[in-house]
Amino acid sequence: MYRLVVYKEKCHGCGNCVIVCPVNAKDPNVFGGKGPEEEDKVVVRVVNGVADVINEELCGGCGACVEACPVYAIKLIVE
Ligand code: SF4
Ligand code: SF4
Repeated sequence: MYRLVVYKEKCHGCGNCVIVCPVNAKDPNVFGGKGPEEEDKVVVRVVNGVADVINEELCGGCGACVEACPVYAIKLIVE
C-alpha cells in the first residue's frame, strides 16, 4: 500500500508530478500536457494551482513524482 502526501504550502502547481507518473501517462491527454480525459484513471492532478492526490489506490510506488518535484512538495509513504 502506498500513500502520497502533498505539502500544499510548498507546491506551486508546476505539474511535473502529474506528467512523470506512469499511471497518469496512460491517459493520452495527460501525456500531452492537458488535464486527464477520465479523472478515475489518474493518481494525481493539479487542482486550483496545487497538486491533489485523487486516486491513491492506483499508485504503483515508483517514486517518479517525488524525484520530479523541484520543491520537495510530494512524499511517498510505503505502508
Ligand atoms: S509514486 Fe509513481 S505511480 Fe505513484 S503517483 Fe508517484 S509517479 Fe505515480
Ligand atoms: S507537488 Fe511538486 S511537482 Fe507536483 S505540482 Fe506541486 S510543485 Fe510541481
